[in-house]
Amino acid sequence: MNIVLWRFAHNCLPSGLQLRHRNIPTNPACVHCGRDESIEHCLLFCQFTSEVWNKVKKRFDIHLCRKNFHSTKQWLFDFIDRASPEQSTVLAITVWHIWEARNAVRNGEGNIHPHRVASKIHAYVDLVLLHLFKTVAGHSRETPSSSSVKWSPPPPGSILINVDASIFSNLHKLGIGILIQNHKGECLVACTEPLKGMVQPELAESWALRQAVILARDEGLTSVIFASDCLSLVQRVNSSSIDRSEVGVVVSDIKRLVACFSSVSFCHVKRSLNAAAHILARAC
Ligand SMILES: [Zn+2]
Repeated sequence: MNIVLWRFAHNCLPSGLQLRHRNIPTNPACVHCGRDESIEHCLLFCQFTSEVWNKVKKRFDIHLCRKNFHSTKQWLFDFIDRASPEQSTVLAITVWHIWEARNAVRNGEGNIHPHRVASKIHAYVDLVLLHLFKTVAGHSRETPSSSSVKWSPPPPGSILINVDASIFSNLHKLGIGILIQNHKGECLVACTEPLKGMVQPELAESWALRQAVILARDEGLTSVIFASDCLSLVQRVNSSSIDRSEVGVVVSDIKRLVACFSSVSFCHVKRSLNAAAHILARAC
């Protein structure tokens, strides 16, 4: 599971230097330029990264203020301090794409031009901003099994977690997308996870939901609302009866896991209102 921004803030992304620091045998060189790969080099200062940022900065009026850099955590806090919610979202998406592009090269999947990375970021941000900040989506805690046409942010103190799964039949794999946002509509975490193998759609959706529950638990969230566009799955997790279907084992696992939350609900949302999570799932 990629929680890139969180790891960036805590200086624990497995960059080349980080791995060497932990005595893990690896090549500590940057995959793009060959210099020592610190986290800040990888995500802020590398020539490749700079070219991505230059395109993103122009488009979204973002100021990185890299001259004031002292530590990843301080830099990130300073950025978030002066940025709008939209700009913070752009930051999270850009950092994530730069890290994924780096991983692709490291895994031998070939180089990608920085301008192509920037184009992917632009398209991705457009869709996320459209759904998070324009037609801001909502849910109904009272009628969790009914489709919601209009959305609103979660109530203060609650966290909204959109989740989706995508099946890539030709590649024999699944993609899971999870988007976590607070009551201000700010994107806290956007992550994606590929899984090998093929399953029927509802099982894929239930795996995705279970991953989202585990992520929320690991992030220490307490009051959470999970949103899925799979109505049958939402009905199953909201049902008090024992589920003997093919997805029953996963559903009961989800019910067991959510005991750690002080407040939790599952709601069904239309696919169009779950687009950000869908795009994440397709990005695997
Ligand atoms: Zn580099």
